[in-house]
Amino acid sequence: MSVRPGRHFLQIPGPTNVPDPVLRAMAAPTIDHRGPEFAELTHRLLDALKPVFGTSGPVLIYPSSGTGAWEAALLNTLSPGDRVLCFETGHFSTLWQSMAEQLGLDPETVPGDWRHGASPEEAAARLAADTEHRIKAVCVVHNETSTGVTSRIPEIRRALDEAGHPALLLVDTVSSLGSIDYRHEEWGVDVTVAGSQKGLMLPPGLGFNAVSDKALEASRTARSPRAYWDWRPVLEANERGFFPYTPATNLLYGLEEALRLLTAEGLPAVFARHQKLAAATRAAVRGWGLEVVCADEREHSATLTGVLLPPEHDADAVRKVVLERFDMSLGTGLGKLAGRVFRIGHLGQLGELALAGTLSGVQMGLRLAGVPVASGGLEAALDVLGER
Ligand SMILES: *Cc1c(COP(=O)(O)O)cnc(C)c1O
Repeated sequence: MSVRPGRHFLQIPGPTNVPDPVLRAMAAPTIDHRGPEFAELTHRLLDALKPVFGTSGPVLIYPSSGTGAWEAALLNTLSPGDRVLCFETGHFSTLWQSMAEQLGLDPETVPGDWRHGASPEEAAARLAADTEHRIKAVCVVHNETSTGVTSRIPEIRRALDEAGHPALLLVDTVSSLGSIDYRHEEWGVDVTVAGSQKGLMLPPGLGFNAVSDKALEASRTARSPRAYWDWRPVLEANERGFFPYTPATNLLYGLEEALRLLTAEGLPAVFARHQKLAAATRAAVRGWGLEVVCADEREHSATLTGVLLPPEHDADAVRKVVLERFDMSLGTGLGKLAGRVFRIGHLGQLGELALAGTLSGVQMGLRLAGVPVASGGLEAALDVLGER
C-alpha cells in the first residue's frame, strides 16, 4: 500500500477516532486484575460512568461488543416466550429484534419506514391494546445508526406510563451515549445498552448495561439461561472492585481517560458540539441539493447524517472514490438502504475544522463520482460552523 500523507479521516458512525490521550492511557502495562490497584480503578470507573448514563444505579461493563450488551439486557430481564415490543427504526433495531427471536423471546414488531424514530402514538396504541400485559419489555434504539434518526425516549416512557403498563423499557444507546443528551434514570429506562467505540471514543471491545431497580428485580425471576452474561456474579465481584473473569484491563485505562475528557469538556458542551456539527452537515447536504434520510425535524441525529442519493447513483461508488482519493472512510448503507445511502459520522473526537475537512472530501467525492451537486453545500456548512 502506498504511503498516505496526513491522517486517515475515520468518518464512519463508529468506531470513531480515538483521542491521543486515550491511546496513550491504553499503552500502560497491564496490571494484576485481582490486585488492589485494579480494585481502585474499577471503583473509580463505576462511579465515573454513572453521570454519563444519567443514573445513580449500577452500570455493568462487559469485555464485549455492543451486541453482547444487547444480549445481556434481554437474557437478564426476560424468560423464554416473553413478548417484547420492538420498533423497526432501521438495521440495528432489526438485528436486536432478530436476536430476541433467536433467544426464544416472542417479538411483536412495530413496522417502520427507516426514516422515522419509534412512534410514541403507536407505542400508546399497542400498549393499550395489551390489556393482559403480555408484553414484558419495549425495545427501542435511541439513535438508529443505519439512518441517522433519534427516537424520542421520554415520549415512549410517557406512553408506557399513560397506559399503566408494567413492561420494562430497554434502550440501545450504542451510538448516542456520551454524544446526545440521555438520562437513564430521569427517563425511566430499565436497561440502557451501550458500547465503547462510538461516543465514548474508545476502540471496540466494551459493552455496557445500566440497570434500574425494576430491571434488577426482574433479573431475580427471569428464566433465560445465562452464564457469561449473568449480571449477578458481575455485580457481586464489582462490589469488591473485581470481575468474575479477566476484564479488558487496557480498555479500562482508556475508558478512564475518555471519561476524564468528557467531564473536562462538560457533557452539556459535548452535546451542543454534536448538535452544531450535525446542523452544519445537514446544511451541506441540503446545499448540495441532496436529501437527508431522517424525515422528521424533531428526530435528526446529532451523531451521524444519512445521505440519500437519487436512484441513478450508487452511494458505495461515492464512498469508494472518497477513500481512494482522500483517505476518508464514510459509512456504507446498511440493510435495505445499501447502495442508496451513505452515512457521515460526526461523533466523538471531532471539532469544527475536522468536520469542514470531512464535508470538503464529501463534496469533492460526490462530484468525482458523477453526482451533480450544487456548490453551495460546503459554504452553507461553514456558515453554521462559523456562527458565534
Ligand atoms: C454499532 C451499534 C450496535 C452494535 O454494536 P457492535 O459493537 O457492533 O456489536 C448496536 N446498536 C447500535 C445503535 C449501533 O450503532
